[in-house]
Amino acid sequence: MPDSASIDVDALLQGYARIARANGAQFRLNARLERGERSRGLWRLQTSEGPLTASILVNAAGAWADVVAESCDVAPLGFTPMRRTGVIVDAPETWPMRALPACIDVAEDFYFKPDAGRIMVSPADETLSPPTDAAADDYDVAVAINRLTDACKIDVRRVRSTWAGLRTFSPDRNPVAGHSCGGDGFFWLAGQGGAGVQTAPALARIAAALICNTEPELDPGPLSPLRFRTRSQAREARVS
Ligand SMILES: Cc1cc2nc3c(=O)[nH]c(=O)nc-3n(C[C@H](O)[C@H](O)[C@H](O)COP(=O)(O)OP(=O)(O)OC[C@H]3O[C@@H](n4cnc5c(N)ncnc54)[C@H](O)[C@@H]3O)c2cc1C
Repeated sequence: MPDSASIDVDALLQGYARIARANGAQFRLNARLERGERSRGLWRLQTSEGPLTASILVNAAGAWADVVAESCDVAPLGFTPMRRTGVIVDAPETWPMRALPACIDVAEDFYFKPDAGRIMVSPADETLSPPTDAAADDYDVAVAINRLTDACKIDVRRVRSTWAGLRTFSPDRNPVAGHSCGGDGFFWLAGQGGAGVQTAPALARIAAALICNTEPELDPGPLSPLRFRTRSQAREARVS
């Protein structure tokens, strides 16, 4: 698509943070949620930076979404974190970097795209991982470079940087946004997989509408965590 563009993820995040602060949000960075208990309509949260209370708790903990749920005595949904690797290499001098599109192999075995004058290449890996601060594995870096050099018939002389992150999937690989089945003020916002940046504005608007009890722009049914309810949980919900 000639009119497609890259998202500056850091600028997007800082922009959202500015808007949130301007609307009264407070940020507690490095405050790890250790335990949450619901009592008399409130969440009482123990964090590494002290206690907090809240009427609604939004679980947007990415790869740790199930861990956070369990620390609040909410049944996990079965999220799967998967590692994906990124590698930055120099582009061949002859490549038209300003016009270069993002290129994805038809089998989605690898992809590459221009990145600040260089090439970002990924082996499109999906390696199962526990929730952790992921790091690139040398093998995945070698696979990425091998697929790039093979497909484009170029030499890669220098790897500039490597990284990896976790893309977290729900059991049906679609995102989850909605209240848990317990009616306990626990809201799931997780499982964005490989599209959590580009879907963030839309998913956040749907989540905000559900939390504030207003009409969402789209049918939120397919995003509901209730689709993963076990039969006994569904029976309990009908009885109560
Ligand atoms: C190599 C790679 C390429 C990608 N490419 C794209 C792309 O092209 N387009 C796209 O849209 N997406 C892409 N993604 C996916 C995107 O990055 C994710 O979907 C997105 O980051 C998920 O956001 P999140 O906020 O749900 O989770 P995260 O960004 O993982 O945030 C979760 C946060 O919860 C915090 N947390 C966890 N446990 C606790 C706790 N107990 N207490 C307090 N805080 C806690 C963590 O510290 C973390 O800050 C890519 C990902 C990778 C790895």
